[in-house]
Amino acid sequence: MAKKLLVLCMAAIMAVAALVAGCGGDQKAASDNKVLKVGTNADFAPFEFQDENGKEYQGFDMDLIRAIGEEMGYKVEISNIQFDGLIPAIQAGNIDVAITGMTINEERKQNVLFSDPYYKSGLSIIVAKDNNDIKTFQDLKGKKVAVQIGTTSAAEVNKIGGVEVKEFNSSADTFMELRAKGVDAVVNDRPVNDYYILKSGETNVKALPELLTSEDYGIAFAKNNTELQGKVNEALKKLHENGKYDEIFTKWFGTTSK
Ligand code: GLN
Repeated sequence: MAKKLLVLCMAAIMAVAALVAGCGGDQKAASDNKVLKVGTNADFAPFEFQDENGKEYQGFDMDLIRAIGEEMGYKVEISNIQFDGLIPAIQAGNIDVAITGMTINEERKQNVLFSDPYYKSGLSIIVAKDNNDIKTFQDLKGKKVAVQIGTTSAAEVNKIGGVEVKEFNSSADTFMELRAKGVDAVVNDRPVNDYYILKSGETNVKALPELLTSEDYGIAFAKNNTELQGKVNEALKKLHENGKYDEIFTKWFGTTSK
């Protein structure tokens, strides 16, 4: 009798549990166990960086990928990986996507798939405030310039010719080198240079107005993962339609994307 009661009780509990799971409703509850493994190089403010305590991932890309994950019903797990290790990490299957202010270009397309473009960028120069020699990219010839390894900045500055290029692991390191007067200039993505000037309190440097290149950022996936690429593009489209993309854009850039 007691055994029968126990079985009955358990059946009742299971029925309630099933009901709750069902009611929890929408696709999000159904896919609670889906995890999106995201790689980023969290040294690229305002797109990705960690707060003072070094834990929480912040920035435009971080908010965007969390919103995309939510839209898709995936739990987002972020890992910090060196910039030039991100594409290899995708290829090795250690991460599902990389979001890291990564410019969509032909060379990278040989190795990964990209989402639809989500941000328009370009390259700019920062020099010391009292530097009057460097006004354009051509003026970098014969000068020492800091760039981040594996980036479009590194590629473009090397193309100019006659530049003494010093490569660093992160944009933060390039700024440090300029401050230490180890280089005459720094080339980085314009929004990253602008954010540095705005937030660092550094008053001895200036950003030059010339923009080299027009670049689109995309989220990267493994070559064969068209399924995830499709889901992310769909989520991105939704976020544009429902105003969430603009909300995130305004939070980080103070203006709307249009
Ligand atoms: N947009 C540049 C590139 O893709 C820099 C990206 C970065 O440093 N995170 O090369």
